[in-house]
Amino acid sequence: MKKICILGSTGSVGTNTLNVVREHPEQFQIVGLSAGQNITLLCEQIKEFRPRIVSVANKDLAAEIRLKIDQDVVITYGEEGIIEVATHSEANYVVSSLVGIAGLAPTIAAIKAGKDIGLANKETLVSAGHIVMNLVKEYNVRLLPIDSEHSAIFQCLQGERYEDIEKIIITASGGALRHLERDQLKNVTLKEALNHPNWKMGAKITIDSATMMNKGLEVIEAHWLFSLPYSHIDVLIHHESIIHSMIEFKDGAVMAQLGTPDMKVPIQYALTYPGRAPLNTERLSLAKIGKLHFRAMDFDRYPAMRLTYQVGTAGGTYPTVFNAVNEVLVEQILLEKMPIHLLEEGIEQILDVHQAISNPTLEEILEADQWARAEIGKRIKNLLRI
Ligand code: MG
Repeated sequence: MKKICILGSTGSVGTNTLNVVREHPEQFQIVGLSAGQNITLLCEQIKEFRPRIVSVANKDLAAEIRLKIDQDVVITYGEEGIIEVATHSEANYVVSSLVGIAGLAPTIAAIKAGKDIGLANKETLVSAGHIVMNLVKEYNVRLLPIDSEHSAIFQCLQGERYEDIEKIIITASGGALRHLERDQLKNVTLKEALNHPNWKMGAKITIDSATMMNKGLEVIEAHWLFSLPYSHIDVLIHHESIIHSMIEFKDGAVMAQLGTPDMKVPIQYALTYPGRAPLNTERLSLAKIGKLHFRAMDFDRYPAMRLTYQVGTAGGTYPTVFNAVNEVLVEQILLEKMPIHLLEEGIEQILDVHQAISNPTLEEILEADQWARAEIGKRIKNLLRI
């Protein structure tokens, strides 16, 4: 029996994880849930899944839940509350699906508490891949990718040897604005940027898909997960999001994992690995789809992709800064205060003045994150709409 805690239970990956759990009550049990502000949904989840512990953003929300829930459940809050959920003694598996750098410390705490991890939080590996991968070995836990691309590569790797990989090919849909040229981005509205053609996801990751930042973070994650140099990681634009990613082996054979875009599939695989279980999802019909489309990544159209390979190769605290500035600017884009086409310029400005530390400690990573946020805060007015 998998006894599961979910960090970020009211988000897109969190709710889909609960959809999977609901289908297999004999295999999975919910021990803990951590959410932010959405306590209406959290209360429903508490009533349905009866966890032992939950955490929310702050003390007031915790008190509000206490009034609404007449069940035997520990209610905690804040960063410490998330850690309590992540390390709960009855859990043996933690789904790490918080958005942003906030997911890093709880994921590390869960690994140190001996939990297997289903990883959806990108920043854990982007900022601290060198630390996290070592801890996974040291504490002898499993780190299973939930992101569809990494899950695809992981699935293609079963029965294969890492040393036989020539390269991996990560597919990218191109995001909501893929039909536009770079100079047409000036006039896009938030609604257009949030209109992802294939995937229904949270707002932040949908903007990151439109800018290709999401793919950038995935490339850096893949570097750590599959211990491959950046020169062996390619990105291919594939409009339909049917091929979730591929591996080319040394003998020229290419393996791909296909399916209709549904997050429940990679989530469930991360939970049932190395086995599989039935799942209620739309089945792939290639006959119905007829054609799949591909084109080469365009580094001028998507400068975030160019920056990815630069910061990834440079390493150290560069990827942390790359991610932190993006988080700050995406918030402004979502508030409609900043046009989307200025994102990469903002990120590049801060990367240019960053004094990177190589092989940073966790503390140094968090410092670099704070520094980057402060630094973009000082310069942001030039990027905002007046
Ligand atoms: Mg993905």
